[in-house]
Amino acid sequence: MVKQLEEIRTAEQDIFQKIAGHEQVVFCNDPATGLQAIIAIHDTTLGPALGGTRMYPYASVNEALEDALRLSEGMTYKCAAAGIDFGGGKAVIIGDPKKDKTPALFRAFGQYVDSLNGRFYTGTDMGTTMDDFVQALKETNFINGVPEAHGGSGDTSIPTAQGVIYALKATNQYLFGDDCLGDKKYAIQGLGKVGYKVAEQLLLEGAFLYVTDIQEDSVKRIQEKAKELGGTVQPVKSEEIYHTDADVFVPCAMGAVINDETIERLKVKAVVGSANNQLHKGRHNRTLNEKGILFAPDYIVNAGGLIQIADELYGANKERVLLKTKEIYHTLLEIYERAKMDSITTGEAAKRKCEQTIDEQRHRNNFFARAQRPKWKFENKFR
Ligand code: NAD
Repeated sequence: MVKQLEEIRTAEQDIFQKIAGHEQVVFCNDPATGLQAIIAIHDTTLGPALGGTRMYPYASVNEALEDALRLSEGMTYKCAAAGIDFGGGKAVIIGDPKKDKTPALFRAFGQYVDSLNGRFYTGTDMGTTMDDFVQALKETNFINGVPEAHGGSGDTSIPTAQGVIYALKATNQYLFGDDCLGDKKYAIQGLGKVGYKVAEQLLLEGAFLYVTDIQEDSVKRIQEKAKELGGTVQPVKSEEIYHTDADVFVPCAMGAVINDETIERLKVKAVVGSANNQLHKGRHNRTLNEKGILFAPDYIVNAGGLIQIADELYGANKERVLLKTKEIYHTLLEIYERAKMDSITTGEAAKRKCEQTIDEQRHRNNFFARAQRPKWKFENKFR
């Protein structure tokens, strides 16, 4: 009996150690719908937690918890970097998105989100779609990123691409003393929702583009656009994109593309793109530095979409989103300067800047002000 109690205590300590950096973790269990989900709220210093809900067939509850903890912490930094009044949160639903989804499951999840009374706002992420959140919206107002017909702000790739363009301008300003886009060469990996828009804007500015995409149609589409605009696009094979003679590599497809093997091949002066988690390992930021390649931290560059989602809660306004997205230019320049001054990587400089933002707000906040914030600050417009 004593041994059993000891084991329980140890397990309890383990779990509290694991979530020590987080404010709150909610386990959602609804046998009627089969819902098993974890909502992790990392830090609400800047405002209520914001973060998508991922659905994945996790091998264990532990694996799901770790994902929720890691992703919600990342959201705290993303929100601070984007300069929005939100903190970091994330939810994970344990299940196979192809087999286990039902409207009832998402309505049940919506009820759990609602029970947090505005401490957590959520929407789509890997494995979940807008349709899923249309169901959740029936049970709670604390949802964002839904279709425009339901009061959402629509396609986030528009501000995301705009943010990449501002990031490229800042990079050119820092490296070449002039933020002109047109007189440079860019190597764009991925011509999807974001990459295509970035490519189109760069063509309009008169830039030369190397492009690649695993879908031929996407390449053809930008070639046609180039013809229409009188610009130059040179398609290259997937692997060739890493060793073109471009000035900037613009990854807009998948993560982990900056790794030991690709860094060897890169000849560019900077890496600036929308893809999430571009560095295979954190240390690759330093390896890039050593090769004289400037790295623009991805979560600073691709903040446009997050800015739009956050803006929904004030009543979507495209001009306000664009104004805020423009700030990426100055934020990135500041990070580049700080990294140089303190002899640290741009990733470390970005992290320091975010921590400073959170610390400054912490001094202005007290626990009660924070708890009240969702109620007075956001008048939800969905209903
Ligand atoms: P998308 O799915 O519309 O486009 C991705 C494109 O990359 C597709 O055309 C795909 O065919 C291509 N691709 C995949 N593997 C490739 C490879 N090996 N080589 C070349 N091309 C490849 O996605 P998106 O919305 O344009 O997002 C692009 C990236 O930006 C993703 O990493 C995403 O997580 C990130 N991001 C997007 C947004 C947004 O608002 N859409 C916001 C923040 C971050």
